[in-house]
Formats: sequence, structure tokens, C-alpha cells
Amino acid sequence: VIPAPFAYVRPASLDAALAALADPEAKAIAGGHSLLPVMKLRLARPTTLVDLAELGLRGIHVGDGEVRIGALTTYAELLDVDPRAGLPEVVRECAAAVGDVQVRNAGTVGGTVAHGDPASDLAAGLLAVDAHLVLASPGGTRTVPARDFFVGPYTTLLERQELLVEVVVPHLEPRRGSAYVAFEDPASGYPIVGCAAVVSVDGDAFGSCAIGLCGIGGRPLRASAVEAVFAAGAGTASPAALRAALAEAADLDDYRQHLAVLAIGRSVESARRRAA
Ligand SMILES: Cc1cc2nc3c(=O)[nH]c(=O)nc-3n(C[C@H](O)[C@H](O)[C@H](O)COP(=O)(O)OP(=O)(O)OC[C@H]3O[C@@H](n4cnc5c(N)ncnc54)[C@H](O)[C@@H]3O)c2cc1C
Repeated sequence: VIPAPFAYVRPASLDAALAALADPEAKAIAGGHSLLPVMKLRLARPTTLVDLAELGLRGIHVGDGEVRIGALTTYAELLDVDPRAGLPEVVRECAAAVGDVQVRNAGTVGGTVAHGDPASDLAAGLLAVDAHLVLASPGGTRTVPARDFFVGPYTTLLERQELLVEVVVPHLEPRRGSAYVAFEDPASGYPIVGCAAVVSVDGDAFGSCAIGLCGIGGRPLRASAVEAVFAAGAGTASPAALRAALAEAADLDDYRQHLAVLAIGRSVESARRRAA
């Protein structure tokens, strides 16, 4: 498994990287952990790889009520972030669930989001916390909600000559807790189903929940039908109601549906305990 021949450039500025991507056969590369395997299978044959390593897009900055994560930040760096930065626990748990230590050392936050893998652990977390994505193109920058970004299998809102430069994660408001629960394929480590939940409480009472799912359907998705089930049941949801809500989101076989119901129930319960 050897990739087709390609050229390699390592621009020193965002403008230069975007200019290199004007070539329709060029492709950005970050950690290479998703791109190189598909190149080796010759499912992707870029003529030029545009390495994003020197663009200064690596690092985590704590802003006013938010954490800004540079697209080239690795999972390992995300897991190392100071707990006082206010990164929601669910984002940390999603990053910890990814692959093995080699993948977490090389794979980047921007790479997994841009790749649009339906089974991206981190995407589920970013959906649940209402993260925003900053995209740069020669025409300027735009910011899009994560919940609008994933449009189909390996398909996102990213235009050809556009790069994801930053992921903005808001701090959780008070009385909110978050958690991630996934069932993994034992061979690959990828989630068969993953559920990221953010739950708010008011005293002992359930307030609301936000649910991000991965591994089911054709894209990471925000499951508003599932959220509505918990809202209607004041924090409780029967397996039958969850199965019906999941059917609205994706056409699932019985096995995956069963795991999804378990992952949703466990992540919501854990997030609720943390919120309380
Ligand atoms: C053995 C193995 C196990 C894995 N297990 C898991 C798992 O359990 N859970 C999971 O979620 N993932 C898993 N992964 C996938 C891993 O998370 C992704 O490969 C990784 O996060 C992608 O990031 P990268 O930096 O390697 O992207 P790359 O491979 O460099 O790029 C991926 C794609 O995104 C594009 N791209 C990259 N960065 C940008 C950017 N900033 N802007 C625009 N486009 C960009 C590239 O052009 C390419 O099309 C696994 C991968 C491997 C190899």
C-alpha cells in the first residue's frame, strides 16, 4: 500500500497555505492519521500535500467564557490542558476515547472535524457543547456552529480553498454537567456509537439536555428528537421513546439502536449527576 506520487509544501503563513490550496488537486494535511491511510489505499490521490504545521494554529487559549482551540492542536495537548481553563469535561472525555496514544499524539482537533468522519468521538462532544468553528479562506473568515457543519459522510461545509483554523468551545454555564459514553469497536477503537450529553439542572429538577451522537447515521449529529424526549419526560426517557426518536435521526439496525439507547441513558445520567 503505497500512495500515488505527490509533491509536499510546508507554507509559513495562512495566506500562503490558502494560495497553495487554489490547486484543485492539492490537499491540506495536519496529523495525517486519516488522510494518509486513504492515500495509501489510493482512495485519495492529491498531487500536492499542503502541510499546516507552520501556520501557528497550534495551542489553546482561554478567553472570556470560552476556550479557543487552534486547529492543529493534538488530542494529547487537549488532554493536557489546565483543568482551570474551563474545558467541558465531555470534550476531554471525547478526546480521551480516541484511538490509542499514537493517534492522540499526532491526530489534531481540526483534522478530525474537517474530515467529517461520522464516527468522530470529538465531533459528538463539540455538537453537545454548541461549539463554533472558525473557517478561513482567501475571502476572509466565517464562523459556523458545529451543528450546521457536518452535512453527510465525510462531507462538511468546508469549501475547497478553505481551512478550519479554530474551534471555539463555550464554558458550561453554572448547574450544567457533561459526559461522554461510547461503545467501541474492539479492533479499531472507533466508536460503534458515542453519545455526548450536556445536562442542566434546577435544584434537583432536570432542566434540559443537549445530545451529540457519533457512529450512527451518516454524520456526527445533534439529536434534537432525543433531547425532546428527555424534555417531555422531565429528565426520564423510556427505551421505546428513545428508539423512536433515534429512528428519526438514522436508519439503525437493532444492535446499534440498543447500544445507542444505552449510551444516551448512561451519558445523560452521568452528566446530570455532575450538574447536581
Ligand atoms: C489507528 C487509528 C485509530 C483511530 N481511532 C479513532 C477513534 O477511536 N475515534 C476517532 O474519533 N478517531 C479515530 N481515529 C481518527 C483520528 O481521530 C483522525 O485521524 C484524526 O483526528 C484526524 O486528524 P489528523 O490531524 O490526522 O487529520 P489529517 O489526516 O491530516 O486530515 C484529515 C482530513 O482533514 C483535512 N484537514 C486537516 N486539517 C484541516 C484543517 N485545519 N482545515 C481544513 N481541512 C483540514 C485534510 O485535508 C484531510 O482531508 C483513528 C485513526 C487511526 C489511524
